[in-house]
Amino acid sequence: MRDTLRQDQDPYVTLITPKAPVSTPTHGGRAKCLQRLIRLELPVPRTVALSFETVHRIAAGELPDIDRILAQFPAGALLCVRPSSEDPDWGGPGSILNIGMNDATFVDLSDSIGHAAASSLYKRFVMAYAIHVARLDPDVFEEIEGVGQEGLSEALRCYEEEAEEPFPQDPAVQLAEVLRSMARAWEGTTARLLRQAKGAPVDAGLGLIVQEMALGLGSGERGSGVLQLVNSETGLPQVTGRYLSQSQGREALEGGPAALYLERDPRGPSLEELEPAAFEALKEYAAFMRKKLRAEMQIEFTIENGRVHILDGMRVKRSPRAALRIAVHLAEDGIISRQEAVMRVEPRGLSELLHRQVDPEAARDVIGRGVAASPGAATGKIVFSSSEAQASAARGENCILVRRETSPEDVRGMHAAVAVLTERGGMTSHAAVIGRGFGLPCVVGAARMGFRLHDKILITEDGRRLREGEMITVDGSSGQVLAGAPRMIEAALDDAFHVFMSWADAERDIGIRANADTPADATTARNFAAQGIGLCRTEHMFFEADRITPMREMIFADSPEDRKAALARLLPMQRADFIELFRIMEGMPVCIRLFDPPLHEFLPSDRAGLRDLAEALDLPVSDVTRRVESMGEYNPMLGMRGVRLGIAVPEIYDMQARAIFEATLEASQEGAAVVPEIMLPLVSAMREVELVRTRIDAVAAAVRNERGREFDYSLGVMVETPRACLRADEIAQHAHFLSFGTNDLTQMTYGLSRDDAGRFMSHYVQQGVFAEDPFHRLDPEGVGELIRMGVERGRRGNGGVMLSICGEHGGDPDSIAFCRSAGIDYVSCSPFRVPVARLAAAQLAIRDKIG
Ligand code: PEP
Ligand code: MG
Repeated sequence: MRDTLRQDQDPYVTLITPKAPVSTPTHGGRAKCLQRLIRLELPVPRTVALSFETVHRIAAGELPDIDRILAQFPAGALLCVRPSSEDPDWGGPGSILNIGMNDATFVDLSDSIGHAAASSLYKRFVMAYAIHVARLDPDVFEEIEGVGQEGLSEALRCYEEEAEEPFPQDPAVQLAEVLRSMARAWEGTTARLLRQAKGAPVDAGLGLIVQEMALGLGSGERGSGVLQLVNSETGLPQVTGRYLSQSQGREALEGGPAALYLERDPRGPSLEELEPAAFEALKEYAAFMRKKLRAEMQIEFTIENGRVHILDGMRVKRSPRAALRIAVHLAEDGIISRQEAVMRVEPRGLSELLHRQVDPEAARDVIGRGVAASPGAATGKIVFSSSEAQASAARGENCILVRRETSPEDVRGMHAAVAVLTERGGMTSHAAVIGRGFGLPCVVGAARMGFRLHDKILITEDGRRLREGEMITVDGSSGQVLAGAPRMIEAALDDAFHVFMSWADAERDIGIRANADTPADATTARNFAAQGIGLCRTEHMFFEADRITPMREMIFADSPEDRKAALARLLPMQRADFIELFRIMEGMPVCIRLFDPPLHEFLPSDRAGLRDLAEALDLPVSDVTRRVESMGEYNPMLGMRGVRLGIAVPEIYDMQARAIFEATLEASQEGAAVVPEIMLPLVSAMREVELVRTRIDAVAAAVRNERGREFDYSLGVMVETPRACLRADEIAQHAHFLSFGTNDLTQMTYGLSRDDAGRFMSHYVQQGVFAEDPFHRLDPEGVGELIRMGVERGRRGNGGVMLSICGEHGGDPDSIAFCRSAGIDYVSCSPFRVPVARLAAAQLAIRDKIG
């Protein structure tokens, strides 16, 4: 070999040796990985790396010294060029193999590897060059049927006809053109947009590597393949890949029945039987790479009569569940630290492990798309009403509840369904919030589908009409709606998951609680190791069949006495709710938010409902209808709800406070003393807190007196109006804790309805008005500034005040980063997002520790 390339001679083109200056940020991940393999003395063919800068210059028309590159390889060697971007996920132009093939090499190779193999190599190169470099019409070349010499001649003739010049014979010209075409392909607009969508920066660079070929074709046993030691879907140990005789590159993976299994396999012949020594060597190389490169690697190899060449190595592709298992096994084998293992799993991917999913390999008949509002997938028969959902569940049939949007009246139907699909709504609409709470897959805002609820027909995006009872699948992880029942994979809450999460918890420095309204939610929260309940929305408890009537009587009551009488019927039920929650949480903090929604949400709106209510109240339907109409508000979300009800109709909060205190005494008898946290929603003024607090204190005193027993409780305020942030100092003086309700706070800061924004949010995000849906990812600038103000002023007013957030953002990793930096003590999120939040918080802490 002549004239070894050195950095001082050419900073842009580098022969990869153990000490050559090659790095991922300058030459890309593939070049760096090949250098590591060379350092490990693995049988890697000679390789030259071209830096990002060189490739950028090539795209601009400035070629490096091609003869000097060629001089690195033996005369007459065939070469391949492969892309080497900084992150393999960003893609890049396809590899081009067999560069250097021409009439003269063809003659030489015919002698050494046989005429048929040489013809095949030459033909492959002509075709690849024609299609990917000269950019000729692929159809013309793909129609060539001849094999051997005949196929080759046809390919060369086609080239000459289409390109109007003979096929280039000079290897330097061939290499220069290949480099130029790959460099330009990377800089094209489509390629740039595609990689930006995968997270690449605008100016992401491409490196190229030029490598001597190990041919994989010719006499004896020659071929190529791909091998890894784990299954990419499960992460479990399993030798995976294929080998194909007389093949190159990754052809074995598309090799059909001719491709061999690697390990002995009942389904067919294997490389282990054909070439046992080579198979053993490959396994050893892969295990060695795992240990030294500290990752599960996939290797691309060639075998030439027993001799193994390693052409390439890359981290194995892995599903989130595989990523977790691989990280745990690497740490358990002492190859990486636990901290590193924790850093290797993407928190958002974790939610895939917690739910059933559509098998990524399964065929998908997509019939609609919407917002992926609650992860997981489920298959069931279409139903169009909550009552039908309950009937279906009673028959033991899985059903999907299809609604225009859901309201609190649908909660029982949602409970009965296995998934929910709505026409309207966004990330914080009713269906989305309840769906996440239940762990119920949910797609909302599928507005391109037709929802003909009256006719009980769902029209797919491509015009198919589905009737009630037909089977569909809701994939709440991707936002897709699928026809039929594709194959599913189960949730993966196995030992590896628990071990991994315990490592994450050891690093975390911000608390994680769950938003839980029901015993089922609370149990899920405990299973996912939440450190308490950060928000129990009590209003959902009043929709149960035995409660809605006293609730409505209470709403219709004309005097405080009548109201108290109706509430007295609700008190024991509410007390039982709290006793159960306290029991499940076993002394962990439970934060109960007093009643929040506008009262008319509990009233019927349809004729049948109004008639039922008239019957229950023994009133004429016309009276009931008039009363219901008179309670309607133009803007209920800004109307009489939250603490405003606590002041205008104080008996409701009195009843709830009594239920909480009586439950506290009861649950405390069984175990650790319960110290409930009571939270007031939608506060905007200090005086609201003073007034309600006085009444709650009075209820506490009354219960203590009646029972002759002591208990403690703390009172807090939801900071979810901009004014509460601004006045947090005085509000905090009357509160033990402040919890930022970022759903309402986002709604009110933007003046954007959380129930209607879904209709136009995609336009806003696509056109860059908002970088993200602010109901999904906390807006760190506007809403964030109010929160920072609230934190600072709240602490100024009361140094010991505990601070948290309980909006949907509590489960979003970026929003958690914001909360942590703002000095918030804990975040509270839907139970199924608790593990995601635990991992995201752990990674933030580790990043800070390692700098
Ligand atoms: C909020 O507004 O952020 C919140 C947690 O309360 P809700 O979603 O019940 O209005
Ligand atoms: Mg709110």
